[in-house]
Amino acid sequence: MNLLFVASECAPFVKTGGLADVIGAVPKTLASMGVRVKIMLPAYPALAGIMAQGKTVLKLENLHGGPARVVAASAGGLALLLLDAPHLYDRPGAIYAGPDGQDWSDNHLRFGALAQVAAEVAIEGVDGWKPDIVNAHDWQAGLLPAYLRQSVKPVPPAVLTIHNIAFQGVFGAETLGPLGLSDDLFTPEGMEYWGKLSFLKAGIAFSDKITTVSPTYARELLLPEFGMGLEGILQARRGDLSGILNGIDLDIWNPETDADLPRPFSARALKRKAASKAAVESRFDLTSKPDAPLFCVVSRLTEQKGLDLLLEVLPGLVGRGARLAVLGNGEKALEAGFIAAAHRFKGAVGTIIGYDESLSHLMQGGCDAILIPSRFEPCGLTQLYGLRYGTLPVVARTGGLADTVIDANDAALVAGCATGVQFAPVTAAALDQAISRICDLYAQPKLWAAMQRRAMRHPVGWAQSAQAYLDLYTSLDGKPR
Ligand code: ADP
Repeated sequence: MNLLFVASECAPFVKTGGLADVIGAVPKTLASMGVRVKIMLPAYPALAGIMAQGKTVLKLENLHGGPARVVAASAGGLALLLLDAPHLYDRPGAIYAGPDGQDWSDNHLRFGALAQVAAEVAIEGVDGWKPDIVNAHDWQAGLLPAYLRQSVKPVPPAVLTIHNIAFQGVFGAETLGPLGLSDDLFTPEGMEYWGKLSFLKAGIAFSDKITTVSPTYARELLLPEFGMGLEGILQARRGDLSGILNGIDLDIWNPETDADLPRPFSARALKRKAASKAAVESRFDLTSKPDAPLFCVVSRLTEQKGLDLLLEVLPGLVGRGARLAVLGNGEKALEAGFIAAAHRFKGAVGTIIGYDESLSHLMQGGCDAILIPSRFEPCGLTQLYGLRYGTLPVVARTGGLADTVIDANDAALVAGCATGVQFAPVTAAALDQAISRICDLYAQPKLWAAMQRRAMRHPVGWAQSAQAYLDLYTSLDGKPR
């Protein structure tokens, strides 16, 4: 089976969040199952080196105001199709926004072009390769099923994967013409959203199957509290919607081989985790305290992640003797809140504002528990890294967090299956109580070590979920429209 992935991010090359990790990881497992996957991405400056090693497989004279080409290249065990259109992608700043932090004003063209050229690749093939199935990821690739729908030629079946419904790609209706989209598809059942064009809704309406990244989130998306305005169309398509849990790349996230840890460790040699703990304490200027837990947060600092609640309960956390290391960036008020907390609770709270992949590994290696009080969380990856590194997750009971962490309630403790703490509702009071519970568990070293070892054995790789994707693709294979 040939499979085309289309996305705007792919780890380790370009990443702003979990989407990139998934795009960089699942194709490797699928490849081991015999699927030939190519990943189509915009050729951002970060990919220039890889592109220089590649080969041009498609040329376009004019793609929204400039010439473009598709370059086939391989890197990090992945087969890439890079859409090289310098007038769209060769820019400074982040991938969605300019140096001023504002989204690029032509993002509809930048990602519309990605979908449009992906559709051409899907229909015509490139370099003697043609996909049997296409899988578009998130709104940036959401128009791909629409371009396929309006094609008069036979097209492969399309799957849309929703990694986070909060990001929908909504633009004015006047963009329809420049994007070359047919008015026929611009209906309330199609890609029209309150008079505007929604890239994500296009993907939902015109794909053959829709997946999201955990079973609980798949159910939550049908509710107004979580569907963010798209619950209606998702309800209409609920028979084609399923949740497939994300996994993590076990080669990159492996405490036994992780080069970012001063001393690798394993479930059998847990004591060696102490070297990483000392390194985290030193990086975050925290007072060393063997009898109290060290918590961490590695996160985008946004409303979604519920970290304003953590700020509220910090006095309680510090009052219990615990410490907290925060690595993140995002909303200015939250950044300022955690910087202020580090001043107020000197030695007990440490904050580093920024994005630092290597430090995130060290924190997973060295902390005792990771706090994830998200208001919603499609899947979440940091709790999976936490499990793998024996850094027990304290999570809100929502989305993929609910599906991956086994709460240390009395029944789970008796049965010997607990791997962390869940709390609900997502309030400061419930978070405070969860922190109190995890502190109590930490105070019981034998129980704690048993939970750590169990967490580290919990299957968090891609094997099971890649099989679920493969089953879905197989159910569609051979059904071109
Ligand atoms: P989301 O995609 O909503 O941001 P996920 O938990 O699915 O949340 O994925 C977040 C990914 O980004 C994880 O790999 C996490 O380690 C990483 N990450 C988030 N913030 C930072 C940061 N400040 N520094 C390093 N890595 C980060």
